[in-house]
Amino acid sequence: MFIALGANEGDRELSLLRGVAELGKLPETRITALSGFYDTEPVGPVAQGNFLNAVARLETSLTPNRLLEELQRIETVVFRRRRDISGGPRPMDLDILFYGPLVLRETDLTIPHPRLHERRFVLVPLAEIASGFIHPLLHRSVAELLEGLGTGERVTPI
Ligand code: ADP
Ligand code: MG
Repeated sequence: MFIALGANEGDRELSLLRGVAELGKLPETRITALSGFYDTEPVGPVAQGNFLNAVARLETSLTPNRLLEELQRIETVVFRRRRDISGGPRPMDLDILFYGPLVLRETDLTIPHPRLHERRFVLVPLAEIASGFIHPLLHRSVAELLEGLGTGERVTPI
């Protein structure tokens, strides 16, 4: 499965590296690929600094819900993330993009991530390690989804 990492507070590069390390420490889990790191313009109504974004591919036997629980623990305990402003600045955001071909719609967990196909800051790093992966609902590859986006916010490899 694929996890998106993003940080726009503190030392962003150090945070992504720490995030990757924490993913690698999860039980029953291995990191099998990692994209480059990208400096990206923030999307949405909240004015805030640029993000650094990356995508990791994991192999895990954790269930999707257990994985989300672990990601939220890393966000709040390891990175001391406060959940005040939705869509605002954060030291670490960890989102589940795909979990193989699984489709899940629960109140606190939607897979595939519902907005991944409209976000250049997700699709660009994802395309680096999974360009041929087919979106299980949209039935298009990551490369095709990215082509369909055209130009938008800037996403620059560091
Ligand atoms: P966002 O990532 O959209 O900026 P948050 O990180 O604060 O916002 O996440 C808000 C909520 O999104 C989380 O509490 C979580 O329950 C929910 N959520 C739903 N689907 C997913 C997913 N695929 N990955 C991560 N969180 C998800
Ligand atoms: Mg999130």
